[in-house]
Amino acid sequence: MNNDNKINNKIGFLSLGCPKALVDSENILTQLKSEGYIIVDKYTDADIVVINTCGFIESAIEESLGAIHEALTENGRVIVTGCLGVKTELIKSKYPNVLGITGPHATYEVMSLIHKHLPKPHDPYTDLVPPQGIKLTPKHYAYLKISEGCNNSCTFCIIPDMRGKLVSYPIHEVLEQAVKLRDAGYKELLIVSQDTAAYGADVKYRTGFFNGKPVKTKIYDLCEELGALGIWVRLHYVYPYPHIDDLIPLMRDGKILPYLDIPFQHASPNVLKAMKRPANVTNIIQRIQSWREICPDLHIRSTFIVGFPGETEEDFELLLDFLRSVKLDNVGCFKYSQVDGAKANNIANKVPEDIKEIRYNKFMQCQQEINRERLKNKIGTICEVIVDDITRKYLIGRTKFDAPDIDGLTYIKNNGKYENIMVGSIVKVEITDNGDYDLYGKIIND
Ligand code: SF4
Repeated sequence: MNNDNKINNKIGFLSLGCPKALVDSENILTQLKSEGYIIVDKYTDADIVVINTCGFIESAIEESLGAIHEALTENGRVIVTGCLGVKTELIKSKYPNVLGITGPHATYEVMSLIHKHLPKPHDPYTDLVPPQGIKLTPKHYAYLKISEGCNNSCTFCIIPDMRGKLVSYPIHEVLEQAVKLRDAGYKELLIVSQDTAAYGADVKYRTGFFNGKPVKTKIYDLCEELGALGIWVRLHYVYPYPHIDDLIPLMRDGKILPYLDIPFQHASPNVLKAMKRPANVTNIIQRIQSWREICPDLHIRSTFIVGFPGETEEDFELLLDFLRSVKLDNVGCFKYSQVDGAKANNIANKVPEDIKEIRYNKFMQCQQEINRERLKNKIGTICEVIVDDITRKYLIGRTKFDAPDIDGLTYIKNNGKYENIMVGSIVKVEITDNGDYDLYGKIIND
């Protein structure tokens, strides 16, 4: 809605999708704020609405289209960005009135569209932006994106088509942003990208400079530098390339968190081949064993897809055997769903929906048993817990083995005596009980 009697500088913003999209949103919001635009909560109060969409799976596409529809109905002046923006024709055919469409990672293009339809406010100097930019996460943890795009060609994924080939951000920029976040009080950095372990491969691991010191654009060197910041550093979307072995000693020595988020997706060689995931399961099992020998605290999170085209009962049983054998710590599972434009759509022997459902339930049951045992083994141990929320009943946090939003929580009874503890505090907790996914504990004194 245009308010002709007011300064037209109000933006409504909706961010959908994964942490990579969230970082794109943060960059756009940072730019908007630095130029003096004001972000408003209601579409009806805004002069323009920006929707950062997700286009990864069918349900995400539906959600994004629904969000565009809602913004058009309530406001009428809408700019679409993000992964679904790559499907320009689809959006234009459904919503010809949108003001503009861009793909993901397009701060410059989004700002150009905004300038075209809502010229920059006159006095940008009055709107101060914190040095670390605008963050959509709570004040104690932040996602740090280190690259864009991906050089792999997994058959179920259209991200390389949407976001292009791997482009690593310069090492000094990544480290400077990390320092800004640390200095602003952030306690935990979550390192994200499409393929975190490949960081620097596109620039042949070129040497950059940080604080006058040469540092290679490489995941090991990045982690070593981040490990010196004195805050929690957690790695996500790590493909198990051989050089990942080098990171395990950094985890053992407490430089970065003993946590690896590795999306294995499957364990049957046939399915992995059809997915074009170049993995060798025996090799992976041995490597996980050797990682655990070096760093017994190492926790591995992963995601899997069941019901991929061509997956047989035997393939599925191999997957369950893999789960039982490696006993991963945190696991997510998706039923395969077709994505427009993905090569996997042409693979024969689609798995019927009812079989997918049965396999999904079996998978979850299998992992739940592993989980219960795993969490039970934590009873009596002492863990560092970062506090995410404080309610009248509980302090709710996460151990260093749990990432926000996707892993389990730790509940500590609030006895009213914890005035010194704030959101973002890191406390020592003795684990006293467990549920299916979460832990319960009490704070202990040093
Ligand atoms: S590694 Fe595979 S699944 Fe991940 S972004 Fe690249 S192509 Fe997609």
